[in-house]
Amino acid sequence: MKTAYILLIVAALYVTCTSCSQQPPNTQIMNHTNNPVFSKTDTGKVALSNDEWKKILSPEVYHIAREKGTERPYSSKYEEFNDIGTYYCAVCGNALFRSDTKFESGCGWPSFYEPISKSSVIYEADNSYGMRRTEVMCGRCKSHLGHVFDDGPKPTGLRYCINGVVLDFEKAKEAEKKYDAEHPQS
Ligand SMILES: [Zn+2]
Repeated sequence: MKTAYILLIVAALYVTCTSCSQQPPNTQIMNHTNNPVFSKTDTGKVALSNDEWKKILSPEVYHIAREKGTERPYSSKYEEFNDIGTYYCAVCGNALFRSDTKFESGCGWPSFYEPISKSSVIYEADNSYGMRRTEVMCGRCKSHLGHVFDDGPKPTGLRYCINGVVLDFEKAKEAEKKYDAEHPQS
């Protein structure tokens, strides 16, 4: 009887350890499990109160997205980052920019010359801090992303200066793999 009990414990330990080792070692993937509105497929508008956002978002993302904060220049991992893929809104999962529209502006923030579609972002006049700027917000959840200026490269001549904190990058290959897994060839 005692032996069986010990065997059971050993078995339980083995199962626990096996499941541990199967967890992906890369913890860089952003954790959206506490965020019920985050979706890369749902395009329905999201309107939550700031009290609700506060419960869902990390303090860093909340400050930029909901309090129109600005991250320190040259602090974003996406500032000098050239991987091929898609940039999503880190707040709601809305697709915002494609990597092939990203360029090195030298301004200290990830910069793009064009959003992924007309409705992916929305604009508002921003006259704060004695400047006349155009604010860029997520077209799905209205989170603050950054500003757009008219000193960008061709073909648009625009420079979308975006806080990396509110961007969530997905490599093209990862997207492809996910697509293949969801649509297995028969
Ligand atoms: Zn969003």
